Amino acid sequence: MYKKEFFEHSVVFSIRTFREDDLIVKFLTPSQGMVTSFAFGGKKSRRRFPGCLEELSHVIFKVSSSKNGNYLYLQEGILIDRFSNIHKNRSLYGMAINCQKFLDAVLIGREDVRGIFDLYLELLKGLNNGLFNGMGNIPIFFRARVAKELGYLPRIESCNTCGRLLSTQWEVFFSPKDGNVVCGRCASQKNGFILFKRPAFELFCASFLGSPNDWLRFKTHGEILNLVAKGIGLFVETHLGIRWDRGRFRTK
Ligand SMILES: [Zn+2]
Repeated sequence: MYKKEFFEHSVVFSIRTFREDDLIVKFLTPSQGMVTSFAFGGKKSRRRFPGCLEELSHVIFKVSSSKNGNYLYLQEGILIDRFSNIHKNRSLYGMAINCQKFLDAVLIGREDVRGIFDLYLELLKGLNNGLFNGMGNIPIFFRARVAKELGYLPRIESCNTCGRLLSTQWEVFFSPKDGNVVCGRCASQKNGFILFKRPAFELFCASFLGSPNDWLRFKTHGEILNLVAKGIGLFVETHLGIRWDRGRFRTK
């Protein structure tokens, strides 16, 4: 490892005790990706880390590497937001942690993740401000949007077989395996498709292309959410090789 020092916006993912007052902190940063670092004396030092060493906190951390470059340690932190409303509400907290676990699984080995960092921060702000109350499928939309940021976007503009544009079609057939869509005429003989009627297809597209605030207009479409969730789940499982299993995301 080379010697480095950085001062960056971060979101805390996890904290565990290393020994006595020392902690090991895992956090997400825009330019370094997932970072694991020591916080020496972190359990006691309220002066250097005021309110910073808590899951989900948005913090600016000053990080240095040890003399021999073998490990990183936190010098200090500035708390931006601890998202206290999320901590008070089990359902919001569950959504935030689910998205976090997904990032933890898909961002291994990736450094420049600015787009995804901004997306996660926007999601946390929305959850904290009560924008997504009662929208339990938000983590599914989030997975779709992250997949797109990582370069996995289904081909959704036109029928993969005949090339017809699908912007006005009432029925669209999505193949999670192939990551593309076909029109009703071309889908007749094929299996393994998910039928999206227009509103479901629009939600599906918005999951991949929109921002968390765009998902708000789908608040009332309760009946189509499960179908869209199924399509996104299968797409992510097939193309990113990640699926949810007994409380965590696993790679296939
Ligand atoms: Zn077609």
